[in-house]
Amino acid sequence: MFPSFSLRYARLPERLRAECLPTPVERPRLVAFNRELADELGFDLAAFEADEAAGALAGNQVPKGAEPVAMAYAGHQFGNFVPQLGDGRALLLGEVVDRHGRIRDIQLKGSGRTPFSRGGDGRAPLGPVLREYLVSEAMHALGIPTTRALAAVTTGERVFRRIPEPGAVLTRVASSHLRVGTFQYFAARGDTEAVRLLADEAIARHYPHLSDRADDGERYLALLDAVAERQTELVARWMGVGFIHGVMNTDNTAISGETIDYGPCAFMDTFDPRTVYSSIDEQGRYAYVNQPVVIQWNLARFAETLVPLIDSDGERAVERATPIIREVSERFEARWREVMRAKLGLATDEDGDGELAQALLDAMRAGRADFHLAFRYLADAVEAAAEAPRLKDIFESRDELEAWLPRWRERLAREEASNADIVARLNAANPAVIPRNHRVAEAIAAAEEDDFEPFEALLAVITDPYTTPDTEVDYTRPPRDEERVLRTFCGT
Ligand code: AMP
Ligand code: MG
Ligand code: MG
Repeated sequence: MFPSFSLRYARLPERLRAECLPTPVERPRLVAFNRELADELGFDLAAFEADEAAGALAGNQVPKGAEPVAMAYAGHQFGNFVPQLGDGRALLLGEVVDRHGRIRDIQLKGSGRTPFSRGGDGRAPLGPVLREYLVSEAMHALGIPTTRALAAVTTGERVFRRIPEPGAVLTRVASSHLRVGTFQYFAARGDTEAVRLLADEAIARHYPHLSDRADDGERYLALLDAVAERQTELVARWMGVGFIHGVMNTDNTAISGETIDYGPCAFMDTFDPRTVYSSIDEQGRYAYVNQPVVIQWNLARFAETLVPLIDSDGERAVERATPIIREVSERFEARWREVMRAKLGLATDEDGDGELAQALLDAMRAGRADFHLAFRYLADAVEAAAEAPRLKDIFESRDELEAWLPRWRERLAREEASNADIVARLNAANPAVIPRNHRVAEAIAAAEEDDFEPFEALLAVITDPYTTPDTEVDYTRPPRDEERVLRTFCGT
């Protein structure tokens, strides 16, 4: 059933990884399977059999040609360096070449203990597995780079967190699982050769256009620059959909520029830049508004690992890398303005567009407006004479919004586009539906009682996010006060 594996990471020197088999589970049952992604990856869907798939995707049988490994990595967790983390509950089965010729990692998450498990059980509860499934697939549908969810299998076993919970295994697909923390693991050990191997692998897989730069220093500097560009763009895109990652540790920052490790993440409802969901983020280090600063910090940690590759003279290497890190804030601003211009229906670029976007956010904050509906309903207010009651109704106080709308319309007038075109642009840039936290929680609660219908119904609407769903349940509306879910847990 599986496509054939190429074993790139398994063939790298042993110290980069640990060979390890998954621990079989009692009663594997396939509860979600992404056929479209499976097809893209080259799975033989004609031979697909749910029972057989469940066993393989739970790790009970290692698929033919796979050589499971746990990857070594370190990382800064909430700013503190931990020299050894590694895949403590995940195994890379191998890489496959998808139908578009791209190399993709296939990983089981929750597949049992590994040499990197420390005190952990190597398992994953169903709730976090379904959260990752939903949110990563929504992210993909929103056009934002992300790891994907191929499958979720329940194990028939309990895992013990705050309370006993049903166990599950997620099959995660990534363009690679190289992280800033992977580089840090070897840099911290003074293993420059391993850092070089990783850098070369990163270039080969994600930035092949850099491979023809003859000068080593230039090439690795260009790698830093390329990762900075993708990560900066990624965070700008998160900001545009109100996404809060929740655990932006350096081990959760992917070299590919994909969103990785969906733990206590959430999309915010009411707009407030200080919003934090994660139960473990007590200081608000990873609050919505801090994400651009954190990514700059994480990229600086990445730069440090590359220093010996950039220049044999350490000081000169730092001198060459520093401007790239400094520039992250400007780059972010530029990417953010692009994201926001699209959300305001603007195709042209004018000075002042960033301020215009910020003024709307200020109005949303003052009016305690829902982030998603405020943008989605802008389409109602394009016409000068529009009353736009739906839009105004979601603002508790409207003065700032009322002052902002004419400013925006004046700017729209310089777009040389018909109102109908602007409405179409707005509807294509502002999703009608994202996986709201209370809906995710509802879907998880039902699944824990063995009812997967709410999960499936939610998945169906969030993977078509720009279409207003025609469903009995209103997936577009924000939670009522009593429905709000303000805390999320990482499930480790
Ligand atoms: P995370 O907070 O998801 O980024 O994970 C941080 C580290 O903890 C990684 O090394 C994980 O592999 C490890 N970890 C998380 N949960 C478990 C678990 N249940 N058992 C073993 N290791 C875990
Ligand atoms: Mg992680
Ligand atoms: Mg995690």
